[in-house]
Amino acid sequence: MSRTSPVLLVTGGSRGIGAAVVTRAAAAGWSVCLTYRGDAPAADTVVAAARRAGVEATAVRADVAVEADVETAFAAADAMGPLGGVVVNAGVVVPKSRVDAMSARRVSEMLAVNVVGAVVSCREAVRRLSTAHGGPGGSIVLVSSAASRLGSAGEYVDYAASKAAVDTLGLGLAKEVADEGVRVNVVRPGIIDTELHASGGQPDRVARIGPAVPVGRAGAADEVAAAVVWLLGDEASYCTGSVLDVAGGR
Ligand code: NAP
Repeated sequence: MSRTSPVLLVTGGSRGIGAAVVTRAAAAGWSVCLTYRGDAPAADTVVAAARRAGVEATAVRADVAVEADVETAFAAADAMGPLGGVVVNAGVVVPKSRVDAMSARRVSEMLAVNVVGAVVSCREAVRRLSTAHGGPGGSIVLVSSAASRLGSAGEYVDYAASKAAVDTLGLGLAKEVADEGVRVNVVRPGIIDTELHASGGQPDRVARIGPAVPVGRAGAADEVAAAVVWLLGDEASYCTGSVLDVAGGR
């Protein structure tokens, strides 16, 4: 299977939602190139799991906020075979803060990952997938957040705004490349049980907010991954410009 599998690039695939996407995509027959920023052992574990599914897999250290790193990651995917899909997943949250206490530096650093990194990743994806560039077509899924419509008041409005930008990137890009064989869709997770919340200084966030979600619990990374991998594949052939909430009714 590994020689003929389409190649999927997943940014931020070493943990959480990205890792779940890699595992599910490998089971669905995608060869996978995942990126990570710092946690090489975690990335290696995800690569090993993907290989056990019988596909090729590799991990590339690449900070999506660094343009050259993104280009390096796509080059590594190219070395595996023709690219067929990209999941723009890498993202960071920021510590809890009201807007009236935010520094420009905090906002800029977060936007560099969540927005600039997403745009540059999409650029590299389109250059390879679009028939206008001689590519075979393919599928891009952007991982946004329900925060883009909730606003995250008193928590991190800047993060919420970055995800609104991701939503709009998906909507606009979908139209830009719709007749070039490339589908672009957005998945908006609600509160999902990953290490993201601790990285933003709120390790109790899932336990605190989960029970207040209409379905009564936080989501699992694999529940988001199922939506992402469905959107990537041919079963979603008429979906482009879609924004799919995976948020337990929140
Ligand atoms: P996570 O568990 O913190 O994992 C983040 C992943 O992204 C890791 O693989 C991390 O690599 C990588 N990463 C972080 N910054 C990076 C950078 N600058 N360049 C490249 N890779 C980077 O987060 P998650 O919960 O799975 O979140 C994934 C996506 O879902 C994010 O875009 C997030 O905003 C979104 N989301 C999450 C939730 C939630 O409740 N968890 C809800 C809505 C939306 P290292 O391990 O090497 O640092």
